[in-house]
Amino acid sequence: MQLTPPPPYAPRAFSSAHLPLPLPPGHRFPAQKYAQLAARLRELGWQVDEAPAAPREDLARVHTAAYLAALEALALPPKAERRLGLPQSRALLTRERHTVGGTLAALYDARTRGYGVNLGGGTHHAFADRGEGFCVFNDLAVAAYHALERGLAARVMIIDLDVHQGDDTAHLCAFDPHVFTYSVHGAHNYPFHKERSACDVPLEDGVTDAAYLARLEATLPDAVARFRPELALYVGGADVLAGDRFGRAALSLAGAEARDRFVYGLLRAAGVPVVYTMGGGYHRDIEVTVEAHARGVEALREVFAGYPT
Ligand SMILES: [Zn+2]
Repeated sequence: MQLTPPPPYAPRAFSSAHLPLPLPPGHRFPAQKYAQLAARLRELGWQVDEAPAAPREDLARVHTAAYLAALEALALPPKAERRLGLPQSRALLTRERHTVGGTLAALYDARTRGYGVNLGGGTHHAFADRGEGFCVFNDLAVAAYHALERGLAARVMIIDLDVHQGDDTAHLCAFDPHVFTYSVHGAHNYPFHKERSACDVPLEDGVTDAAYLARLEATLPDAVARFRPELALYVGGADVLAGDRFGRAALSLAGAEARDRFVYGLLRAAGVPVVYTMGGGYHRDIEVTVEAHARGVEALREVFAGYPT
């Protein structure tokens, strides 16, 4: 008998960096990291596809009609716009719809390849009725409910290792037994009012590699074993790195990569496909943020090579 070789997939990621993200000069959000990461992955042999727009019905499953209408009419009140931290514009709305679409497209890659990659997303501070902390839509909640609604998975785990708590994801999914939110974050960092995740792992300021990994290893395997997810949405925030402007943590690049590899290895061993989203990263040297994500994405490809065997 002759075995059919697996299809020769080129590693693929989705990006919305082809669309403009207009910001005033000197704005603190490092928007150029998305295009730089896409370019870096192309150099590494990845196919980077333009993320499609998320269907409105997917956004409406998570966000209120009033919030979507205000965004579409460019009618966010000034206070709401300040909390969002990005100036509202038609271009921003388009870009963010495609960012959510990147996570949805990556979901389908994960089903066949074991992993899917969005070079964006992880926008975990967007609530049902408002945006906060640079997050317009919550791609994680949108993707989780898309997967549940379409029968792609019966249990979805959101593993949020951005240094800031995934407050809105926790809030949106709080009473849903089909979604498990796991968050490792700075106890004293933004958001200062924390929501309650299914599993919260708060860390002190200045946490370094060994202590971080010890907390992760002590909590995540048990959560995976108990919940038995059929799909994981991962937020690989690079704001855990030493030198990040908003991070208050002190991981090295090697430590952040070890974090990613631990999560992927655990999921691969449990047969759980994973969707990568970026989350935050605000290092003083933007190349460091880009390097952390590039390593995280490359590690994902390596760990899931040959999936599902
Ligand atoms: Zn963050």
